[in-house]
Amino acid sequence: DAEVVLVGRSNVGKSTLMRELTGHAVETGGKPGVTRQPNHYDWVAEDFVLTDLPGFGFMSGVDEAVREQIKTDVVRYVEDHADELLVAVLVVDGKSVIDIIDRHSGPDSIPYDVELFHFLRELDVPTVVAVNKMDKVDDRDERLDDLCDRFGLPTPWQQWQDTVAPITAKQGRIEPLTDAVRTHLHDQKRDDL
Ligand code: GDP
Repeated sequence: DAEVVLVGRSNVGKSTLMRELTGHAVETGGKPGVTRQPNHYDWVAEDFVLTDLPGFGFMSGVDEAVREQIKTDVVRYVEDHADELLVAVLVVDGKSVIDIIDRHSGPDSIPYDVELFHFLRELDVPTVVAVNKMDKVDDRDERLDDLCDRFGLPTPWQQWQDTVAPITAKQGRIEPLTDAVRTHLHDQKRDDL
């Protein structure tokens, strides 16, 4: 079945976003790392399944080994489902994403968010970066340009509205994301004709 997948670090607001997209109550906060299976929902507005993959990265009380396993599982899931994936949504926290990426960048290391973004593109899965918690970001354009820079996209960010979607899931302000996702869906429908 046609599928849209959501990936992202824990605590970026993935569950909040899922609730906005599906209208379903999705478990938020509480026990990080406990929901480790992919969760499938219907995106009512469109004819496809929305899959929420387990959040990766730091979670208090979750072992390093478990965290590594989650990353491996996420990569394997997208690899195994690449053919059915219409769009992947990589959710990041606009307030902290640049700091996190810079902290994990080095001569021999690529931050996982960036790695995943490139990996999805290599698999030919159209990918939208949902930059969440924009309500906490003051220097919006500068932040989004920095994000493009870290993900290897030329600035200014405004030319990437199909790829970079600033949102505030908590306030239901997710239209840039739904617009971006729809653009990719419709592109693919045209390709099928
Ligand atoms: P998940 O671990 O990625 O599923 O994240 P959650 O959906 O549980 O959200 C983590 C925290 O971020 C919660 O306290 C949410 O209320 C908060 N949050 C989610 N979206 C937003 C947002 O758009 N703005 C702000 N300020 N907080 C948000």
